[in-house]
Amino acid sequence: MTVTKSGMSEDVADKINSLAKRRGFVFPSSEIYGGAGATWDYGPLGVELKNNVKRAWWRAMVQLRDDIVGIDAAILMHPRVWEASGHVENFIDPLVECGNCRKRFRIDELSDGDALMDQWRDGRADLSTVACPNCGQKKLGPPRRFNLMFKTFVGPVEDTASVAWLRPETAQGIFVNFENVQQSTRRKLPFGIAQVGKSFRNEITPGNFIFRSREFEQMEMQYFCRPADAPRLFDEWLAARRRWYDDLGIDDDLLRFREHAENERAHYAAKAVDIQFRFPFGWQEMEGIHNRTDYDLRRHMEFSGKDLRYFDEATNERFIPYVVETAVGADRATYALLCAAYDEEPDKEGIRVVLRLHKDLAPYKVAVLPLSKNERLTPLAREVYALVRPHFLSTYDETQAIGRRYRRQDEIGTPLCVTIDFPSLDDHAVTIRERDSMAQVRVPIADLVPALREKLGA
Ligand code: ATP
Repeated sequence: MTVTKSGMSEDVADKINSLAKRRGFVFPSSEIYGGAGATWDYGPLGVELKNNVKRAWWRAMVQLRDDIVGIDAAILMHPRVWEASGHVENFIDPLVECGNCRKRFRIDELSDGDALMDQWRDGRADLSTVACPNCGQKKLGPPRRFNLMFKTFVGPVEDTASVAWLRPETAQGIFVNFENVQQSTRRKLPFGIAQVGKSFRNEITPGNFIFRSREFEQMEMQYFCRPADAPRLFDEWLAARRRWYDDLGIDDDLLRFREHAENERAHYAAKAVDIQFRFPFGWQEMEGIHNRTDYDLRRHMEFSGKDLRYFDEATNERFIPYVVETAVGADRATYALLCAAYDEEPDKEGIRVVLRLHKDLAPYKVAVLPLSKNERLTPLAREVYALVRPHFLSTYDETQAIGRRYRRQDEIGTPLCVTIDFPSLDDHAVTIRERDSMAQVRVPIADLVPALREKLGA
């Protein structure tokens, strides 16, 4: 079957998962012990890819903007933070357990889950006629409120005074530093604070590979503004964030917006729109844009007793800023970018698998390949590799036939291959082969680095 970028089929998920394992993108965590509860380790190619995703986000959200600054806050925070933020009380999923097979589910995973969620929110979910998705019996117990935060203890004594939580979102590190950042950078509204870092959620049903795991990374930005400006800025951020995905090469028909109904919004949000991606298993949230109003700063004022109001010199007013937030998972975005890039096309040897990753995201930019493993070619090929390596993340491969090696690079998304052949020994030129078009051009070795730079737009 031919799979195109926009016509993604379900088996693409299996293909991507197996490619990710086989080529060293992502491994199940603690695999030799049978895995560790839906956590994942990034291998040599995966760490490059995810770092490139985070770098692209940081560049767009911090470095290219003069109204946003970055921070890197601690994962362990004062436990009062999570009371103030509402997470101790409200960061809850409704958990049901089957009385027959003992499997556990979130209510929204049951048949007609959305309607059941609505009923649960209204306090009237009746599950007596609902079948267990696993065993089919109608023996689901009453929904329990399950807090997704991981609890731990700081210091040697495990008592209530030493409770700490692993942060379930990075945003609170930004809210508690609002005053520090505003005063140390002398920022005026509107301005944003951005952060990339680990978050932890004890998900009831993690799954779909790195889409939903218990330990993941978030890329979040909180944009502080005057309350009256929040609706306009919300729309602007929605458009800007969608453009970011377009710029990274995601086809428009793989993206859509979905606004949350009033009763499904998180406890802090006055408006919430998801940017959804068409994953092989259906449309799912990739990023959330939220109008968090002044909820978080107000609550931190109440709980900490510190005045976090902003003083507007122009109007002589003091007020609590509103916040428009953009929040995306680095792992989820990486997965979406892998799905969007995965392509198969027929060629004379069967099917060519190509990861059409944006060149800024590709783990390796250049592969250096001698035509064959030959003692006359190797020294020059090594010389070319040494020439290229300081400029672009590169790899070297001399095993197996050249056609196989091109395919190996196509499959991991390497945009350019440089081939050294026997004529290279005399004419001191090499061939650059492009991943997407498979077009080849010959360039003198002396011009190779600028030629690669031009093709990579680097
Ligand atoms: P979902 O409805 O999928 O559980 P959410 O609405 O709870 O997500 P947010 O709290 O808005 O998610 O978090 C922002 C982003 O963080 C999400 O859009 C997603 O990309 C990412 N994210 C959230 N939970 C997970 C998870 N368990 N694993 C991986 N990424 C996650």
